[in-house]
Amino acid sequence: MDKSAASGYRLRIAHLYPDHMNIYGDRGNVIALRQRCTWRGIICEVVPVGPGDGVDWETIDIAFFGGGQDSGQALIAEDFLERQGPALRAAIDDGLAMLAICGGYQLLGHYFLTHTGQRLPGIGALDVYTVGGNVRLIGNVVVEVAAATLQTSVAPDPHAGPIQLVGFENHSGRTYPGAGVRPLGHVLAGHGNNGEDGTEGAVYRNTIGCYLHGSLLPKNPQLADHLIATALHRRYGNGALLAPLDDSMELAAQRAMVARLLVQR
Ligand code: GLN
Repeated sequence: MDKSAASGYRLRIAHLYPDHMNIYGDRGNVIALRQRCTWRGIICEVVPVGPGDGVDWETIDIAFFGGGQDSGQALIAEDFLERQGPALRAAIDDGLAMLAICGGYQLLGHYFLTHTGQRLPGIGALDVYTVGGNVRLIGNVVVEVAAATLQTSVAPDPHAGPIQLVGFENHSGRTYPGAGVRPLGHVLAGHGNNGEDGTEGAVYRNTIGCYLHGSLLPKNPQLADHLIATALHRRYGNGALLAPLDDSMELAAQRAMVARLLVQR
């Protein structure tokens, strides 16, 4: 494929609070999304959203919200709730493609009660709540995800097997999913949402929250393409096709990491 050929498609990515919420390489997720668009000739604009910034969410195709320390979350939680909450919730309800990691995931939920007792309000877009514990949940993670959850086509292969995503977690928060979300998947290695129920992450419409740092998307091209495909379909209709890329290196690295972590169990 001619990687520079213009596709005629254009996507806008909102990167929420990049200066406050960016740990363990989370910024790499935005770089990966932009690069995978560029390789396909999709014009991609990244819009950083900081405290005090207004956003016209109707113009945004993908939103990304990274993780942060409790102190970083405390600095932006109120701005996020007041300034972005209502319109972002509406966009999520309308099918916005969104990925939120760890601290960002927690603030999409109802609240995060930190281990020091501070209650940080979330926007309630995801039916989850989070309670901080005294022991941090740290380490590499393998999450098994149903293929249907990460589809890139409106006519996916019904026989496709599950996908194993790899990532790195480091959180004190234990997140408990409610009935309004389904888990992203189940942990084969690592702690996941809360270290108790074997679930990891939460999915509502086209929004995914999870604990997987990494950077996550360069390591897991299936998830990156799921977000891009979802955004294209929402903006340009179900006929919008995602051109294939050669992911043999990325997928070999992913398989090697999965094998290493599952042997260590
Ligand atoms: N501060 C939150 C916690 O410890 C989120 C951490 C993170 O984003 N890695 O649970």
